[in-house]
Amino acid sequence: MINNVETFANIPIIFQKGADWFSQIGKGKSKGTKVFALAGKVNNTGLVEVPMGTTLREIIFDLGGGIPNRKRFKAAQTGGPSGGCLTEKDLDLPMDYESLISVGSMMGSGGLIVMDEDNCMVDVARFFLEFTQDESCGKCTPCRIGTKRMLEILTKITLGEGEEKDLELLEELATTIKATALCGLGQSAPNPVLSTIRNFRDEYLAHIRDKECPAKVCRALLKYRITSELCKGCGLCERNCPEKAISGKPKKPYTIDQSICIKCGNCLNKCPFNAIELK
Ligand code: SF4
Ligand code: SF4
Ligand code: SF4
Repeated sequence: MINNVETFANIPIIFQKGADWFSQIGKGKSKGTKVFALAGKVNNTGLVEVPMGTTLREIIFDLGGGIPNRKRFKAAQTGGPSGGCLTEKDLDLPMDYESLISVGSMMGSGGLIVMDEDNCMVDVARFFLEFTQDESCGKCTPCRIGTKRMLEILTKITLGEGEEKDLELLEELATTIKATALCGLGQSAPNPVLSTIRNFRDEYLAHIRDKECPAKVCRALLKYRITSELCKGCGLCERNCPEKAISGKPKKPYTIDQSICIKCGNCLNKCPFNAIELK
């Protein structure tokens, strides 16, 4: 018996109505219903119980009410921190055990985190790996040391210090850890890294080659710039900069010293003339 609450909750109704009735719900080998914890960039967050095999699109856009603020759906992470991400091409994927495994993800505990265009997938992979690395018990070398090395590489990439060979190294480490770690935690920890590299390789390359974070999340890669044609020289940004990184003369275009800027974003929020852009 799998001792989890969801299994226990199914047992009374199976006794009441019979196994045949229960088996009619669901798809293929995945019988019955599944509770998903719908979270992230979706209008209706919370627990939803659906027949196994309900598509990702139905869960996110029908039950979840779609993505807030007219943003574009980018990805959904299933299976918690050890799962993988699904993308737009997977929206019509039936959410059942077999289909999720076939696309490199998993059902896990039913976690379903929705991401929009403002999420950086390199940062997402780093965030999930940080969690699993922290959870590693340390008994076996691939998980104890391997996940640590992977996290170091991902952090390096988000800081703009990544090299192209890092992607190859990440994939090699991930494949080795999956094949050699002792338990499920280590074997599944590389999933978010592998699935984001597979689905969002361009985003990794933007961080590595162009030193840019397309979603404007990785702070070290952000650049605040003043557009001189739009700047009225009011000085409001200078007065609100905590690092004195902005200088200029009244009624002339101001400038930002990138070597001092700590990327706090104060100037962008304060400028009344939209003269500051975030790149
Ligand atoms: S794979 Fe399992 S046994 Fe090995 S270190 Fe990670 S948590 Fe421990
Ligand atoms: S982002 Fe912050 S630190 Fe940088 S120039 Fe603007 S206000 Fe100053
Ligand atoms: S707040 Fe805007 S308009 Fe005023 S000086 Fe700064 S950039 Fe120029």
